[in-house]
Amino acid sequence: MDFEFTEDQKMLKKNAHDFWQKEIDPIVDEREKGDTFTKDEYHHYLNMLLPLGYVTGTSSEEYGGMGLSWSSYAVLLEESGYWWPSLSSVIATIGGGEATVSRMNDKLKAKYAKRMTSLEMLGCSGISEPNVGSAAPRGIEFKATLEGDYWILNGTKTWTSNGCVSDYITVLCLLDSGKGVEGVGTIFVDRAESPYETREMHKIGWRCSSFAETTFTDCRVPKDNLLSGAGDTEFARAINHGRAGLSVRAVGLAQAAFDASLSYSQERKQFGKPIAAFQLVQDMLVDMVTEIDCGRFLSYRAFNTIDKNPPLGELRKYVSMAKAFNTEMVNRVTYKAVQIHGAVGVQTDARLERYYRDARPFTIPDGTTQIQKLVVGRELTGINALR
Ligand SMILES: Cc1cc2nc3c(=O)[nH]c(=O)nc-3n(C[C@H](O)[C@H](O)[C@H](O)COP(=O)(O)OP(=O)(O)OC[C@H]3O[C@@H](n4cnc5c(N)ncnc54)[C@H](O)[C@@H]3O)c2cc1C
Repeated sequence: MDFEFTEDQKMLKKNAHDFWQKEIDPIVDEREKGDTFTKDEYHHYLNMLLPLGYVTGTSSEEYGGMGLSWSSYAVLLEESGYWWPSLSSVIATIGGGEATVSRMNDKLKAKYAKRMTSLEMLGCSGISEPNVGSAAPRGIEFKATLEGDYWILNGTKTWTSNGCVSDYITVLCLLDSGKGVEGVGTIFVDRAESPYETREMHKIGWRCSSFAETTFTDCRVPKDNLLSGAGDTEFARAINHGRAGLSVRAVGLAQAAFDASLSYSQERKQFGKPIAAFQLVQDMLVDMVTEIDCGRFLSYRAFNTIDKNPPLGELRKYVSMAKAFNTEMVNRVTYKAVQIHGAVGVQTDARLERYYRDARPFTIPDGTTQIQKLVVGRELTGINALR
């Protein structure tokens, strides 16, 4: 057993680390005081990061990717979480476009794949609805009705990451209301040919990334844009990439909060000595670093499992363990980081306050902590408590 990164992974990490530190970190605090990224900013930042392997790193070279393993891509995601969770969220969601391409028929692939992987078209994923969150795909209300050669879409999707800037969306739709979950499928919508409305919503952390309500009124989409029906194994696998990504991005943010806390504790003096000299402060630091290491091992095991492509149950078990543990862990770690910084920790013009806010969203998307635990529980016991 080897706990070291490979030489290539060390190089990826170093290049990414140096780039974020030099080119991006200096503007983060000021930019976070503003509104969500404009579409131009999406393109600007994503194009800066593309050569490092971000977004399309795991895609095949045919589509402009670098053919990286998922374990290597995890190294890049961890760095993104360390430096800027808002931009990390953008990268992870746009990177999900690869799973969309793999579910396309040849006609759609020819029309869209290169435009998606070159980032000419930015995408998003519409699963959640005002009345359907954890339960999706059960109970989906968003309707797609076939009329001749077109699907007619009606309904609202919500909490859609990158929704406002998107050029396309994949929407989970009810295709046949008589069939329950079996009647649900995913449709690819090109916004230029099938317009939909978006409205920006705002959130506690990751404030610069778009978070939208997306509304469709008699939106006509070509029949061939149906990607897949329910029970689709490609989709069931792909959602694990998002969950593993959240787990390792959480490790990155937790590490940033720890690094700041360690150096602050060595500089800040009380009672005539650095606060790091107090046993109770050391207790917090040790808890933080131990939890981060546990989380990092869980994440890299999850990504390693993705690379091995085992049966779906094994994949889900390791990925959901990492997602559940790490996204709660980053909240515990940033809580302690604020505590170690005292009043500086809650000042809104200092970084710690942002770390604390940026930790909070992690436990919700791609399945809450409770849902991840039920996924693991199902694999352990063979009993499905999710029904
Ligand atoms: C930052 C962020 C980005 C997001 N991006 C997207 C996106 O791009 N696309 C998209 O479609 N959605 C997105 N979402 C939505 C996200 O997937 C949902 O919020 C999530 O699935 C939970 O649904 P909900 O908010 O409706 O909570 P609910 O399902 O209403 O859950 C509320 C509470 O009940 C608990 N609960 C629910 N069911 C059970 C159960 N069976 N057993 C035990 N406890 C249960 C939950 O754990 C939670 O604590 C995003 C959300 C966030 C916060």
